[in-house]
Amino acid sequence: MCGIVGYVGHSQALPVILKGLHRLEYRGYDSAGVALLDAEGKLNVYKCKGKVAELERHLEGKDSFGTIGIGHTRWATHGEPNDVNAHPHFSESGELALIHNGIIENFRVLKDALIQNGFSFRSSTDSEVLVNLIEYIRKTNGCTLAEAVRIALKQVVGAYAIAVIEKGNPDEIVAAKQSSPMVIGIGKDEYYLSSDAASIIDYTNEFVYLNDGEVAIINRNNPLHIVKLSGEDSPVDIKKLELSISQLEKGGYPHFMLKEINEQPQTILDCIRGRISPDTGEVILSGILDNMDKFLNAKRIIIVACGTSWHAALIGERIIEEFCRIPVEVEYASEFRYRNPIIHSDDIVVAVSQSGETADTLAAVELARKAGAFVYGICNVIGSSIARATDSGTYIHVGPEIGVASTKAFTGQVTVMAMMALVIGKALGTLPEETYLAVSKGILGLPELIAQTLKMSDQIADLAKIFTYAHNFIYLGRGYNYPTALEGALKLKEISYIHAEGLPAAEMKHGPIALIDAEMPTVAIATLDQTYEKTISNIEEIKARGGKIIALVSRGDDLARRSADYCLEIPQTVECLMPILSSIPLQLLAYYIAVYKGRNVDQPRNLAKSVTVE
Ligand code: GLU
Repeated sequence: MCGIVGYVGHSQALPVILKGLHRLEYRGYDSAGVALLDAEGKLNVYKCKGKVAELERHLEGKDSFGTIGIGHTRWATHGEPNDVNAHPHFSESGELALIHNGIIENFRVLKDALIQNGFSFRSSTDSEVLVNLIEYIRKTNGCTLAEAVRIALKQVVGAYAIAVIEKGNPDEIVAAKQSSPMVIGIGKDEYYLSSDAASIIDYTNEFVYLNDGEVAIINRNNPLHIVKLSGEDSPVDIKKLELSISQLEKGGYPHFMLKEINEQPQTILDCIRGRISPDTGEVILSGILDNMDKFLNAKRIIIVACGTSWHAALIGERIIEEFCRIPVEVEYASEFRYRNPIIHSDDIVVAVSQSGETADTLAAVELARKAGAFVYGICNVIGSSIARATDSGTYIHVGPEIGVASTKAFTGQVTVMAMMALVIGKALGTLPEETYLAVSKGILGLPELIAQTLKMSDQIADLAKIFTYAHNFIYLGRGYNYPTALEGALKLKEISYIHAEGLPAAEMKHGPIALIDAEMPTVAIATLDQTYEKTISNIEEIKARGGKIIALVSRGDDLARRSADYCLEIPQTVECLMPILSSIPLQLLAYYIAVYKGRNVDQPRNLAKSVTVE
C-alpha cells in the first residue's frame, strides 16, 4: 500500500523525493510527508493530510535543503488521516525520523512497554511505536542505528517497509522490509530508495530488491550493506531493469484490474493478518469482540450495501444465518433509505462499502443511527465517511483498489463477513467447534487456493476469445454461489458492456429459459456443494435447448465436465468460502472479454470508482 521514496547522495534530495512520490500516487493514499537532514545537521520534517501537491504547497518558503531525505505517502491503518498521523514520525527525542508502510500487529504491547519506560506519543499510529522502540534500543544498548533497527524489528510482528534517518548520522538511511515492497536504486555515489522501482527509474536502472527480513545500510560513502535480522550479512544482488514507467506502475500488468485480481492471494493474507491464529485457528475481530453484548442480543441484522458490496453482503447473509442463527436481511442502501424502513434498537445494521464514501450507504447508516440501531461498518478506506459514521467496524485491509470494477474488495468483504460469523457464532454457541475450526482453517488456506485458481488465467483468456461475439450472457448459481453468479454478471456488464444476467439456477424454468439458444452462452457455477446435483440437472436442461455452457466445477469432477461445453476447474474449500474461489475465474473471464473487445477496462464508460452521488 502507498509509498516510500528516499535519497542519499550529493544532489538535493527533495526534488527526487517529490517526483518519486508523485509517481507513487497511483497507489492511493491519504497524506504525505518528508524528512530532510541538512548540512548543519538539522532534521526537518514536513507533512500533511492530503495529496503530494498539498505537501508541496506546505513546503513553500520552508527550509528544505538536504542531500539526504525520506518521503512517504500514507494509507492509514491506525489513526485517521490527519497531519499528526502523517509520516515521517519523530522519535521522542527528535533525533530519529521514520517512515513506514504496512501494519505493526503487536504495536499495542510494544507501546504499553514504551510508555512504562517513559515514552509518550503524539500520533495514534502503529508506526510511531516503532521509531520509539528503535530509539529506546539505540540508547539502552549504545549500538548503531542499523543495529537498533535490526534488534527492534526482531520484536515486531506484522508487515513493514521502513526507512529511518538520524540527526547525528548524516550520510545514512537505514531501511528494512517484511511483506511490503522495498527496492534500492544504485547511482554513482548516491542511492535511491522506493517501494516501487517506477518512481526512481529516471535516475538508474540498477536495483537491489530487499528481501523479507533484511536491513539495508545505505551510506553515501560506502558500498550498500545488507544484513539479515539474525545479524549475518546478506548478498547484494544488483538487477538491471529495462521497463517502461507505465508498465512498472501497474506492477508489469497492462491494467490495474488485472493487477488487483492477481493481488488477491496477498490481499486476503493482509485481510486476515493478525485476525486468525495460524496455530489454534482462533478468530479475533476486535470490532465484534468489543461489542459482543450487542451481537448477543441482536434480534436481526440488516446489511446495507450497493453494487458489488451488495453481492458480498448476500454471501455474508447466508454465512451469518447459518452460523449464528440470527435473521439477516440484505438491502440495497438506495432502496432502504427511501422506504421508511422498520428499524428497532436491538437491530444491528451493517454497512458494506469499499470506498466508505458510497452516498446511499452513508445515508442508510445515518438513518439506522437515528433509529437507535447499533451500526457496524465494513470498509476498505481507513478514516472514510462510513468508517467514521459507524459505531464500530472491521476494515478489509486489501489496499487501494484503483480499477473501477471491484475485485479484491469483494473477496476481502466476504472474508471479513465469514470471520464475523465465526466470532459471533462461537459466542452465541450456535456453531459447532468442528465447523468453526474447519472454516477458520479454510480462511487461512485461501491465499494458497486463490494462487492456484489464478493459474487458470491463460485458459480463461483463450475461452474469452471464443465468447467475445456474444451480446448476452446468463450466469447461474445456487446457494452460496447464487450471489457469485450475480457478481460474475455484474463484472461482465461493467467492463465489456455485454448484457448479462445472474440467476438462481432453478429459476430458469420459471421464465428465463425461453431466452436460451445457440447465441446465449450460460456460465454455470456447479462446484461440489449441497445443490450440486440440482445444478447439473439445470445445466442439462439448458443443453437440451441448444445453449452453450461454460461450467465452473470442482477440480477433478468428471460428471460436470461431461455436461458442459467448456469447463473451468477450481480447487475446493469449505462450502461457505467457495464464492471467494469461484468469483476469481469470473473476474478473469470478464476482464479478458473486455480486453478483446477493446474496452477501457480500468475506467469503463459512465462509471466512477467511488459513488458519492445518490
Ligand atoms: N500503519 C501505518 C499508519 O497507519 C502505515 C500505513 C501505511 O501507509 O502503509 O500510519
